[in-house]
Amino acid sequence: MPAEIQGDCESCGHRWETISLTYRIGPIDYQKDNLRSLWCPQCMLELHCVQSIDRNAWVRWLRSNEEFLTRSRFARHVCEAISGMVSNGPWYAPVKVELPEIPCPRCQTLLELEIEGQKTAICPGCNQRSGKLAICAMVSVVYPDGIP
Ligand SMILES: [Zn+2]
Ligand SMILES: [Zn+2]
Repeated sequence: MPAEIQGDCESCGHRWETISLTYRIGPIDYQKDNLRSLWCPQCMLELHCVQSIDRNAWVRWLRSNEEFLTRSRFARHVCEAISGMVSNGPWYAPVKVELPEIPCPRCQTLLELEIEGQKTAICPGCNQRSGKLAICAMVSVVYPDGIP
């Protein structure tokens, strides 16, 4: 679900609004904290990826998300990496997912580990890493050029 984000720069005072896009890959259990979160501080693009999964659950997740995967090249790329790790593994015992380094599909910078509460964005006004972020609202937006 995309969210409307407000950024506030602590160095230059610039204030801006943007839309963040979150990809959820795999049957993530937020309650059990079975995920790894990466993000791009420039594009506000987040990747939440399941941290361990068995082959059976992975194959089922892929099947039920086929439509989304045809639309997103980036999501397909991440899924291929996970399939490579899981598809020779056991059917019913979870395998740890070790993601390779993944570049942001918008700016090509490598995604970095997201630490909740310590996120600062790159300010589009001064290019410093000093943007404090706050979520304003969840939105449903249509991406005119499609999702990456
Ligand atoms: Zn980016
Ligand atoms: Zn700034």
